[in-house]
Amino acid sequence: MKTILIIDDDASCRNPAAEFLRRDGWRVIEAEDGESGLVLAVQYRPDVLLCDLLMPRMNGYQVCRAVREHAELAATKIVIMTGRDFAADRLSADEVGVAAYLVKPVEFETLREVLVRLAQPESVEPARKAAPHPVAVVPPESAVATDRATKVKFWGVRGSIPTPGPTTVFFGGNTSCVELRVDGQLIILDAGSGIRPLGKALAAEFGDRPMDVTLLVTHTHWDHIQGFPFFLPAYHARNRVHILGYEGARDGLAATLAGQMESPYFPVALKQMPGNIVIEEVKDLTFQIGATRVEACFSNHPGVCVGYRIFSGSGSVVYLPDNECFNEHTLTAHGEGLPRTIEEKLTKFIANADVLITDAQYSADEYKHHVGWGHGCVDDVVLFAIAGGVRRLYLFHHDPEHDDRTISSMLMHAREVAAAAGSSIRIEAAREGEQFTLTPRAVGAM
Ligand SMILES: [Zn+2]
Ligand SMILES: [Zn+2]
Repeated sequence: MKTILIIDDDASCRNPAAEFLRRDGWRVIEAEDGESGLVLAVQYRPDVLLCDLLMPRMNGYQVCRAVREHAELAATKIVIMTGRDFAADRLSADEVGVAAYLVKPVEFETLREVLVRLAQPESVEPARKAAPHPVAVVPPESAVATDRATKVKFWGVRGSIPTPGPTTVFFGGNTSCVELRVDGQLIILDAGSGIRPLGKALAAEFGDRPMDVTLLVTHTHWDHIQGFPFFLPAYHARNRVHILGYEGARDGLAATLAGQMESPYFPVALKQMPGNIVIEEVKDLTFQIGATRVEACFSNHPGVCVGYRIFSGSGSVVYLPDNECFNEHTLTAHGEGLPRTIEEKLTKFIANADVLITDAQYSADEYKHHVGWGHGCVDDVVLFAIAGGVRRLYLFHHDPEHDDRTISSMLMHAREVAAAAGSSIRIEAAREGEQFTLTPRAVGAM
Protein backbone atom coordinates (compact mmCIF):
# COMPACT_ATOMS: atom_id res chain seq x y z
CA MET A 1 0.00 0.00 0.00
CA LYS A 2 1.36 3.39 -0.95
CA THR A 3 1.62 6.12 1.66
CA ILE A 4 0.60 9.76 1.23
CA LEU A 5 1.21 12.50 3.79
CA ILE A 6 -1.17 15.48 3.71
CA ILE A 7 0.09 18.66 5.37
CA ASP A 8 -2.57 21.37 5.49
CA ASP A 9 -3.69 23.61 8.34
CA ASP A 10 -7.17 23.88 6.85
CA ALA A 11 -9.14 20.85 8.01
CA SER A 12 -11.97 21.62 5.58
CA CYS A 13 -9.54 20.86 2.74
CA ARG A 14 -7.45 18.19 4.44
CA ASN A 15 -10.24 15.95 5.70
CA PRO A 16 -12.15 15.41 2.42
CA ALA A 17 -8.89 14.79 0.56
CA ALA A 18 -7.81 12.25 3.19
CA GLU A 19 -11.17 10.54 3.00
CA PHE A 20 -11.06 10.31 -0.79
CA LEU A 21 -7.50 8.97 -0.83
CA ARG A 22 -8.25 6.33 1.81
CA ARG A 23 -11.15 5.12 -0.28
CA ASP A 24 -8.77 5.08 -3.24
CA GLY A 25 -6.50 2.66 -1.42
CA TRP A 26 -3.86 4.99 0.02
CA ARG A 27 -2.45 4.84 3.50
CA VAL A 28 -3.03 8.44 4.57
CA ILE A 29 -1.14 10.35 7.23
CA GLU A 30 -2.20 13.88 8.17
CA ALA A 31 -0.52 16.89 9.74
CA GLU A 32 -1.94 20.34 10.40
CA ASP A 33 1.28 22.37 10.32
CA GLY A 34 4.58 22.22 8.48
CA GLU A 35 6.72 21.42 11.48
CA SER A 36 4.84 18.32 12.63
CA GLY A 37 4.37 17.35 8.98
CA LEU A 38 8.12 17.27 8.43
CA VAL A 39 8.58 15.02 11.48
CA LEU A 40 5.98 12.62 10.04
CA ALA A 41 7.63 12.75 6.61
CA VAL A 42 10.94 11.63 8.08
CA GLN A 43 9.20 8.97 10.15
CA TYR A 44 6.97 7.46 7.43
CA ARG A 45 8.89 8.31 4.22
CA PRO A 46 5.70 8.72 2.19
CA ASP A 47 5.56 8.03 -1.53
CA VAL A 48 3.74 11.34 -2.00
CA LEU A 49 3.66 14.50 0.05
CA LEU A 50 0.54 16.62 -0.54
CA CYS A 51 1.43 19.97 0.92
CA ASP A 52 -0.25 23.35 1.40
CA LEU A 53 1.90 26.49 1.06
CA LEU A 54 0.78 28.98 3.69
CA MET A 55 0.72 27.36 7.11
CA PRO A 56 1.81 28.29 10.62
CA ARG A 57 5.08 27.09 12.17
CA MET A 58 6.67 26.20 8.83
CA ASN A 59 5.45 27.22 5.39
CA GLY A 60 5.16 24.79 2.50
CA TYR A 61 8.33 26.03 0.79
CA GLN A 62 10.33 25.36 3.96
CA VAL A 63 8.85 21.87 4.22
CA CYS A 64 9.68 21.14 0.57
CA ARG A 65 13.24 22.40 0.96
CA ALA A 66 13.76 20.28 4.07
CA VAL A 67 12.29 17.20 2.35
CA ARG A 68 14.48 17.69 -0.73
CA GLU A 69 17.58 18.00 1.46
CA HIS A 70 16.75 14.73 3.21
CA ALA A 71 18.48 11.90 1.34
CA GLU A 72 16.05 9.30 2.67
CA LEU A 73 13.13 11.22 1.19
CA ALA A 74 14.62 11.46 -2.30
CA ALA A 75 11.86 9.24 -3.72
CA THR A 76 9.02 11.24 -2.17
CA LYS A 77 7.07 13.14 -4.82
CA ILE A 78 5.80 16.51 -3.68
CA VAL A 79 2.45 17.86 -4.82
CA ILE A 80 1.47 21.38 -3.80
CA MET A 81 -2.20 21.97 -3.11
CA THR A 82 -2.76 25.66 -2.49
CA GLY A 83 -5.43 28.32 -2.72
CA ARG A 84 -3.24 30.70 -4.67
CA ASP A 85 -2.14 30.79 -8.26
CA PHE A 86 0.52 33.48 -8.56
CA ALA A 87 3.15 32.76 -11.20
CA ALA A 88 5.90 33.65 -8.71
CA ASP A 89 4.63 30.94 -6.36
CA ARG A 90 4.65 28.31 -9.11
CA LEU A 91 8.23 29.28 -9.93
CA SER A 92 9.29 29.10 -6.27
CA ALA A 93 7.58 25.73 -5.94
CA ASP A 94 9.40 24.52 -9.03
CA GLU A 95 12.70 25.63 -7.53
CA VAL A 96 12.16 23.58 -4.38
CA GLY A 97 11.58 20.41 -6.36
CA VAL A 98 7.83 20.16 -6.55
CA ALA A 99 6.43 17.58 -8.97
CA ALA A 100 2.96 19.09 -9.39
CA TYR A 101 1.14 22.26 -8.43
CA LEU A 102 -2.61 22.13 -7.89
CA VAL A 103 -4.86 25.08 -7.13
CA LYS A 104 -7.72 24.55 -4.70
CA PRO A 105 -10.44 23.61 -4.90
CA VAL A 106 -9.01 20.48 -6.48
CA GLU A 107 -11.33 18.01 -8.14
CA PHE A 108 -10.58 14.60 -6.67
CA GLU A 109 -10.48 13.16 -10.19
CA THR A 110 -7.72 15.66 -11.04
CA LEU A 111 -5.80 14.69 -7.93
CA ARG A 112 -6.15 11.02 -8.83
CA GLU A 113 -4.89 11.67 -12.37
CA VAL A 114 -1.87 13.56 -11.06
CA LEU A 115 -1.05 10.80 -8.59
CA VAL A 116 -1.33 8.16 -11.31
CA ARG A 117 0.93 10.22 -13.55
CA LEU A 118 3.48 10.71 -10.80
CA ALA A 119 3.56 6.98 -10.24
CA GLN A 120 5.05 6.62 -13.74
CA PRO A 121 8.86 6.70 -13.75
CA GLU A 122 10.44 10.15 -14.12
CA SER A 123 7.10 11.91 -14.32
CA VAL A 124 7.36 15.54 -13.36
CA GLU A 125 4.80 18.20 -14.21
CA PRO A 126 6.45 21.26 -15.69
CA ALA A 127 5.79 24.40 -13.70
CA ARG A 128 4.08 27.15 -15.63
CA LYS A 129 6.28 29.89 -16.95
CA ALA A 130 6.41 32.74 -14.48
CA ALA A 131 5.02 36.15 -15.33
CA PRO A 132 7.07 39.06 -14.00
CA HIS A 133 6.10 39.96 -10.45
CA PRO A 134 4.59 43.41 -10.42
CA VAL A 135 6.87 44.75 -7.71
CA ALA A 136 5.53 46.93 -9.62
CA VAL A 137 7.43 44.06 -7.61
CA VAL A 138 10.84 44.71 26.56
CA PRO A 139 12.22 48.20 25.77
CA PRO A 140 14.38 50.02 28.37
CA GLU A 141 12.42 52.43 30.51
CA SER A 142 14.31 55.17 28.77
CA ALA A 143 12.60 54.41 25.48
CA VAL A 144 8.92 55.22 25.19
CA ALA A 145 7.39 53.66 28.29
CA THR A 146 6.23 56.99 29.65
CA ASP A 147 3.68 57.46 26.87
CA ARG A 148 0.86 54.91 26.88
CA ALA A 149 -1.26 56.29 24.04
CA THR A 150 -1.21 54.41 20.72
CA LYS A 151 0.19 56.65 18.03
CA VAL A 152 0.52 55.90 14.36
CA LYS A 153 2.63 57.83 11.87
CA PHE A 154 3.12 57.25 8.15
CA TRP A 155 6.69 57.51 6.88
CA GLY A 156 6.25 55.74 3.55
CA VAL A 157 2.94 55.05 1.79
CA ARG A 158 4.01 54.17 -1.75
CA GLY A 159 4.20 50.71 -3.31
CA SER A 160 6.85 49.28 -5.59
CA ILE A 161 9.47 52.05 -5.88
CA PRO A 162 10.11 55.47 -4.34
CA THR A 163 8.56 58.23 -6.43
CA PRO A 164 9.92 61.65 -5.45
CA GLY A 165 8.97 64.71 -7.48
CA PRO A 166 6.64 67.66 -7.70
CA THR A 167 3.56 65.54 -8.49
CA THR A 168 3.82 63.38 -5.35
CA VAL A 169 4.62 66.06 -2.78
CA PHE A 170 1.30 65.89 -0.94
CA PHE A 171 0.94 62.11 -0.40
CA GLY A 172 4.67 61.42 -0.52
CA GLY A 173 6.98 59.20 -2.54
CA ASN A 174 8.65 56.92 0.04
CA THR A 175 7.87 53.20 0.11
CA SER A 176 6.12 51.35 2.94
CA CYS A 177 6.99 52.28 6.50
CA VAL A 178 4.65 53.00 9.42
CA GLU A 179 5.65 53.90 12.98
CA LEU A 180 3.59 52.69 15.94
CA ARG A 181 3.95 53.70 19.57
CA VAL A 182 1.87 51.23 21.47
CA ASP A 183 1.77 50.50 25.20
CA GLY A 184 5.33 51.68 25.65
CA GLN A 185 6.68 49.82 22.62
CA LEU A 186 8.27 51.32 19.54
CA ILE A 187 7.15 49.20 16.58
CA ILE A 188 7.97 49.83 12.93
CA LEU A 189 5.93 48.20 10.20
CA ASP A 190 8.13 47.46 7.19
CA ALA A 191 11.39 49.04 6.14
CA GLY A 192 10.66 50.69 2.80
CA SER A 193 12.51 53.91 2.01
CA GLY A 194 10.34 55.74 4.58
CA ILE A 195 12.41 54.15 7.36
CA ARG A 196 15.32 56.45 6.47
CA PRO A 197 13.66 59.71 7.62
CA LEU A 198 12.08 57.80 10.54
CA GLY A 199 15.56 56.68 11.64
CA LYS A 200 16.78 60.28 11.53
CA ALA A 201 13.80 61.45 13.60
CA LEU A 202 14.36 58.69 16.18
CA ALA A 203 18.05 59.51 16.42
CA ALA A 204 17.16 63.15 17.12
CA GLU A 205 14.49 62.16 19.66
CA PHE A 206 16.57 59.68 21.65
CA GLY A 207 19.95 61.44 21.48
CA ASP A 208 22.37 59.37 23.60
CA ARG A 209 19.64 57.25 25.21
CA PRO A 210 19.47 53.61 24.10
CA MET A 211 16.64 52.70 21.78
CA ASP A 212 14.75 49.42 21.56
CA VAL A 213 12.96 49.00 18.25
CA THR A 214 10.89 46.13 16.89
CA LEU A 215 10.62 45.99 13.11
CA LEU A 216 7.80 43.82 11.77
CA VAL A 217 8.43 42.80 8.17
CA THR A 218 5.38 41.74 6.16
CA HIS A 219 7.47 40.24 3.36
CA THR A 220 10.77 40.88 1.65
CA HIS A 221 9.69 42.42 -1.62
CA TRP A 222 12.12 45.24 -2.10
CA ASP A 223 9.69 48.09 -1.42
CA HIS A 224 9.33 46.75 2.13
CA ILE A 225 13.01 46.29 3.04
CA GLN A 226 15.02 48.63 0.80
CA GLY A 227 15.29 51.40 3.41
CA PHE A 228 16.85 49.26 6.13
CA PRO A 229 20.49 49.83 5.07
CA PHE A 230 19.82 53.55 5.69
CA PHE A 231 18.20 53.14 9.13
CA LEU A 232 20.41 55.27 11.38
CA PRO A 233 19.60 53.60 14.75
CA ALA A 234 21.04 50.33 13.41
CA TYR A 235 24.44 52.04 13.26
CA HIS A 236 24.72 52.65 17.03
CA ALA A 237 25.86 49.90 19.41
CA ARG A 238 23.66 51.23 22.21
CA ASN A 239 20.52 50.40 20.23
CA ARG A 240 18.70 47.12 19.85
CA VAL A 241 16.81 46.39 16.65
CA HIS A 242 14.63 43.30 16.77
CA ILE A 243 13.45 42.26 13.31
CA LEU A 244 10.52 39.85 13.10
CA GLY A 245 9.01 38.24 10.02
CA TYR A 246 8.33 34.95 8.30
CA GLU A 247 10.60 32.80 6.18
CA GLY A 248 10.12 33.60 2.51
CA ALA A 249 9.38 31.41 -0.48
CA ARG A 250 13.00 31.06 -1.51
CA ASP A 251 15.12 31.98 1.47
CA GLY A 252 15.14 32.85 5.14
CA LEU A 253 14.43 36.35 6.40
CA ALA A 254 18.01 36.92 7.60
CA ALA A 255 19.52 35.74 4.31
CA THR A 256 17.25 37.99 2.25
CA LEU A 257 17.90 41.05 4.43
CA ALA A 258 21.64 40.40 4.30
CA GLY A 259 21.48 39.75 0.55
CA GLN A 260 20.46 43.30 -0.33
CA MET A 261 23.50 44.57 1.61
CA GLU A 262 26.11 42.33 -0.02
CA SER A 263 29.08 44.09 -1.56
CA PRO A 264 27.82 44.37 -5.15
CA TYR A 265 24.83 46.36 -3.87
CA PHE A 266 25.90 48.19 -0.70
CA PRO A 267 29.18 49.13 1.03
CA VAL A 268 28.21 47.97 4.55
CA ALA A 269 27.25 44.35 5.23
CA LEU A 270 24.32 43.67 7.56
CA LYS A 271 26.65 41.95 10.03
CA GLN A 272 28.87 45.05 10.07
CA MET A 273 26.07 47.28 11.32
CA PRO A 274 27.07 48.15 14.90
CA GLY A 275 23.56 48.10 16.38
CA ASN A 276 22.41 44.98 18.19
CA ILE A 277 20.34 43.52 15.38
CA VAL A 278 18.43 40.35 16.13
CA ILE A 279 16.53 38.75 13.25
CA GLU A 280 13.89 36.26 14.27
CA GLU A 281 11.61 34.19 12.07
CA VAL A 282 8.20 33.91 13.64
CA LYS A 283 6.53 30.51 13.45
CA ASP A 284 3.11 31.08 14.95
CA LEU A 285 0.47 33.49 13.70
CA THR A 286 -0.03 34.99 17.18
CA PHE A 287 2.84 36.35 19.25
CA GLN A 288 3.77 39.03 21.75
CA ILE A 289 6.02 42.04 21.57
CA GLY A 290 6.46 42.69 25.27
CA ALA A 291 2.92 43.10 26.55
CA THR A 292 1.53 43.82 23.09
CA ARG A 293 -0.35 41.06 21.29
CA VAL A 294 0.18 40.72 17.57
CA GLU A 295 -1.73 38.55 15.11
CA ALA A 296 -0.60 37.78 11.59
CA CYS A 297 -2.55 36.54 8.59
CA PHE A 298 -1.28 35.41 5.19
CA SER A 299 -2.39 37.78 2.47
CA ASN A 300 -3.33 37.17 -1.15
CA HIS A 301 0.01 38.22 -2.63
CA PRO A 302 2.87 36.35 -4.36
CA GLY A 303 5.36 34.61 -2.07
CA VAL A 304 4.98 34.52 1.69
CA CYS A 305 3.37 37.80 2.74
CA VAL A 306 1.47 38.58 5.92
CA GLY A 307 -0.52 41.41 7.42
CA TYR A 308 -0.19 42.28 11.11
CA ARG A 309 -2.87 43.24 13.61
CA ILE A 310 -1.52 45.01 16.68
CA PHE A 311 -3.73 45.07 19.76
CA SER A 312 -3.37 47.80 22.32
CA GLY A 313 -5.24 49.09 25.31
CA SER A 314 -6.80 51.69 23.05
CA GLY A 315 -7.85 49.51 20.14
CA SER A 316 -6.27 47.65 17.25
CA VAL A 317 -4.49 48.57 14.06
CA VAL A 318 -4.33 46.25 11.04
CA TYR A 319 -1.48 46.73 8.60
CA LEU A 320 -2.10 44.72 5.43
CA PRO A 321 0.02 46.55 2.85
CA ASP A 322 0.03 44.05 -0.01
CA ASN A 323 -3.17 42.17 -0.67
CA GLU A 324 -5.53 41.48 -3.55
CA CYS A 325 -9.09 41.24 -2.34
CA PHE A 326 -11.22 38.45 -3.70
CA ASN A 327 -13.80 39.57 -6.21
CA GLU A 328 -15.76 38.39 -9.21
CA HIS A 329 -12.57 38.01 -11.30
CA THR A 330 -10.55 35.94 -8.85
CA LEU A 331 -13.58 33.93 -7.84
CA THR A 332 -14.40 33.11 -11.45
CA ALA A 333 -10.84 32.07 -12.10
CA HIS A 334 -10.62 29.59 -9.23
CA GLY A 335 -14.16 28.66 -8.33
CA GLU A 336 -15.97 29.89 -5.27
CA GLY A 337 -15.01 27.42 -2.57
CA LEU A 338 -11.49 28.07 -1.44
CA PRO A 339 -11.13 31.79 -2.26
CA ARG A 340 -14.22 32.28 -0.09
CA THR A 341 -12.44 30.46 2.75
CA ILE A 342 -9.36 32.67 2.42
CA GLU A 343 -11.54 35.75 2.14
CA GLU A 344 -13.37 34.74 5.31
CA LYS A 345 -10.04 34.34 7.11
CA LEU A 346 -8.95 37.83 6.05
CA THR A 347 -12.34 39.37 6.90
CA LYS A 348 -12.13 37.76 10.34
CA PHE A 349 -8.57 39.04 10.67
CA ILE A 350 -9.66 42.66 10.16
CA ALA A 351 -12.98 42.29 12.03
CA ASN A 352 -13.93 45.43 13.97
CA ALA A 353 -10.44 46.89 13.73
CA ASP A 354 -10.18 50.55 14.68
CA VAL A 355 -7.82 51.20 11.81
CA LEU A 356 -7.11 49.26 8.61
CA ILE A 357 -4.12 50.32 6.53
CA THR A 358 -4.28 48.35 3.31
CA ASP A 359 -3.34 47.95 -0.32
CA ALA A 360 -5.54 50.04 -2.65
CA GLN A 361 -3.08 50.33 -5.50
CA TYR A 362 -5.46 50.29 -8.46
CA SER A 363 -8.60 52.01 -9.62
CA ALA A 364 -11.32 49.71 -10.96
CA ASP A 365 -10.26 50.44 -14.55
CA GLU A 366 -6.59 49.76 -13.87
CA TYR A 367 -7.42 46.64 -11.94
CA LYS A 368 -8.97 45.03 -15.03
CA HIS A 369 -5.42 44.79 -16.41
CA HIS A 370 -3.87 43.71 -13.12
CA VAL A 371 -6.05 40.82 -11.95
CA GLY A 372 -3.85 38.27 -10.23
CA TRP A 373 -0.97 40.67 -9.54
CA GLY A 374 -1.57 40.53 -5.79
CA HIS A 375 -2.64 44.15 -5.26
CA GLY A 376 -5.94 45.72 -4.32
CA CYS A 377 -8.61 47.51 -6.30
CA VAL A 378 -9.99 50.47 -4.37
CA ASP A 379 -13.65 49.46 -4.85
CA ASP A 380 -12.97 45.97 -3.48
CA VAL A 381 -10.96 47.35 -0.58
CA VAL A 382 -13.79 49.62 0.56
CA LEU A 383 -16.29 46.74 0.52
CA PHE A 384 -13.77 44.47 2.28
CA ALA A 385 -13.31 47.06 5.06
CA ILE A 386 -17.07 47.54 5.40
CA ALA A 387 -17.61 43.76 5.57
CA GLY A 388 -15.03 43.63 8.37
CA GLY A 389 -16.72 46.37 10.36
CA VAL A 390 -13.58 48.53 10.27
CA ARG A 391 -13.89 52.04 11.73
CA ARG A 392 -11.28 53.84 9.69
CA LEU A 393 -9.70 52.77 6.42
CA TYR A 394 -6.42 54.10 5.06
CA LEU A 395 -5.80 53.53 1.36
CA PHE A 396 -2.13 52.53 1.17
CA HIS A 397 0.61 51.23 -1.17
CA HIS A 398 -0.12 53.97 -3.71
CA ASP A 399 0.90 53.12 -7.27
CA PRO A 400 4.10 54.86 -8.41
CA GLU A 401 2.20 56.09 -11.47
CA HIS A 402 -0.36 57.90 -9.34
CA ASP A 403 0.22 61.59 -8.72
CA ASP A 404 -1.43 63.55 -5.92
CA ARG A 405 -4.41 64.43 -8.07
CA THR A 406 -5.05 60.77 -8.98
CA ILE A 407 -4.83 59.60 -5.37
CA SER A 408 -7.23 62.38 -4.31
CA SER A 409 -9.76 61.34 -6.92
CA MET A 410 -9.41 57.67 -5.88
CA LEU A 411 -10.10 58.75 -2.30
CA MET A 412 -13.24 60.64 -3.37
CA HIS A 413 -14.36 57.58 -5.32
CA ALA A 414 -13.73 55.32 -2.31
CA ARG A 415 -15.94 57.55 -0.16
CA GLU A 416 -18.67 57.42 -2.81
CA VAL A 417 -18.50 53.62 -2.85
CA ALA A 418 -18.88 53.58 0.94
CA ALA A 419 -21.79 56.03 0.83
CA ALA A 420 -23.52 53.98 -1.86
CA ALA A 421 -23.16 50.96 0.40
CA GLY A 422 -24.80 52.92 3.22
CA SER A 423 -21.67 52.79 5.36
CA SER A 424 -20.35 55.51 7.66
CA ILE A 425 -16.79 54.16 7.57
CA ARG A 426 -14.20 56.91 7.57
CA ILE A 427 -11.80 56.67 4.63
CA GLU A 428 -8.50 58.46 4.10
CA ALA A 429 -5.59 58.06 1.72
CA ALA A 430 -2.40 57.47 3.72
CA ARG A 431 -0.13 60.48 3.48
CA GLU A 432 3.55 60.63 4.36
CA GLY A 433 4.03 62.56 7.61
CA GLU A 434 0.41 62.16 8.77
CA GLN A 435 -0.03 60.94 12.33
CA PHE A 436 -2.92 60.16 14.60
CA THR A 437 -3.65 58.90 18.07
CA LEU A 438 -5.84 55.92 18.80
CA THR A 439 -8.20 56.28 21.70
CA PRO A 440 -10.44 53.49 23.06
CA ARG A 441 -13.67 54.64 21.39
CA ALA A 442 -12.61 56.94 18.61
CA VAL A 443 -9.67 57.95 16.54
CA GLY A 444 -8.75 61.59 16.98
CA ALA A 445 -6.17 63.80 15.35
CA MET A 446 -2.87 64.03 17.20
ZN1 LIG B 1 4.67 46.13 -1.77
ZN1 LIG C 1 4.91 42.67 -2.37
